[in-house]
Amino acid sequence: MISAKSYIKATSMDNAISIAEKHAGIFRYIAGGTDVMVNKFQGNDDASLLIDISEIAALTEIHVNDKFLEIGALVCLDDLKKHPFIVSNFPALIEAANSVASPTIRKTATIGGNLLCENRCLFYNQSEWWREAAGSCLKCNGNICLASGGKKSCFSKFVSDTAIALISVNAQIQIFDSEDISLKPLESIYTGDGIHPRDLKMTAILSSIYIPRNEEFRSVYKKLRKRETLDFTSLTTAVSLTKTGRIRIVLGGVHAKPVIVYGFAGNDLNLLISEAISNTRIIDNDTYSKAYRKEMIAVFLNQSFKELQLI
Ligand SMILES: Cc1cc2nc3c(=O)[nH]c(=O)nc-3n(C[C@H](O)[C@H](O)[C@H](O)COP(=O)(O)OP(=O)(O)OC[C@H]3O[C@@H](n4cnc5c(N)ncnc54)[C@H](O)[C@@H]3O)c2cc1C
Ligand code: SF4
Repeated sequence: MISAKSYIKATSMDNAISIAEKHAGIFRYIAGGTDVMVNKFQGNDDASLLIDISEIAALTEIHVNDKFLEIGALVCLDDLKKHPFIVSNFPALIEAANSVASPTIRKTATIGGNLLCENRCLFYNQSEWWREAAGSCLKCNGNICLASGGKKSCFSKFVSDTAIALISVNAQIQIFDSEDISLKPLESIYTGDGIHPRDLKMTAILSSIYIPRNEEFRSVYKKLRKRETLDFTSLTTAVSLTKTGRIRIVLGGVHAKPVIVYGFAGNDLNLLISEAISNTRIIDNDTYSKAYRKEMIAVFLNQSFKELQLI
């Protein structure tokens, strides 16, 4: 059952933030709504006010200059592939966006919403009725993790596909709040706590994504899932290589936050793979087993290294 009792359409970022500040603790911003509404239907989100930010025109633009590619947070995933500069310079981002959900969902889903979508887990991404029968886990106010049996930590999976591609090319995000506007590395907002996966003020608005143009990247993106459309990731990898030989490996779906490993062309690549695997926190909360997902990290990374002609 959807529990939101009210809905307000914001006209600007200032307007959205001032409405949010008056309703602290009971609101949720909604952009494309493809994540928020599912969480509501599943009884995992009890916000009683939805503040619709989808018509804030300033957040719908894409700009390119000498220093940055800037993508507004409300740009739809489906629209990225219509932008020639992004297609020719950041093909891994296009692949990541095209791998989210289904074609219909991608026409509504925004890139900002994708970076902030809720973590998932086989025991959480279920109806209220299902979860009542199975028992509540830590992420649903219960006192045990149903996947691991542990009582302390939730390792719901970080599932945003575009975040993995964006972190591999060193993306920054602009956060707009009533007090200030800040620019920070995208990865810095992800906590690794499966219950509260992002460190972002409730009222803050993600306004843009900036990809610096001071380095040229070649990137390879891969995603493991059972069905080619609809399924959330079981493992996402993005590997980027700069002209100066810097390697950035980013993994999704295998921890409550992105896993990042840095290296250089010429490093022992097997050691980089081992480091990536040992930094994950994979538990059996996916349709694929923990052991299989671990094995697939090495498979995907080796394939990516080959495609980047590192081996
Ligand atoms: C069947 C199905 C399959 C899916 N498969 C995938 C998948 O494979 N990969 C994947 O990554 N996702 C998947 N999703 C989740 C979702 O569709 C995407 O993550 C989508 O990009 C979310 O964008 P949105 O605009 O709809 O976000 P919304 O639902 O509107 O918002 C998501 C969250 O972000 C917050 N938010 C949104 N925009 C802003 C902003 N600018 N500033 C501050 N807060 C903001 C909202 O408050 C909310 O917490 C799937 C969803 C469905 C229903
Ligand atoms: S990892 Fe455990 S606590 Fe977290 S959502 Fe899954 S079952 Fe719940």
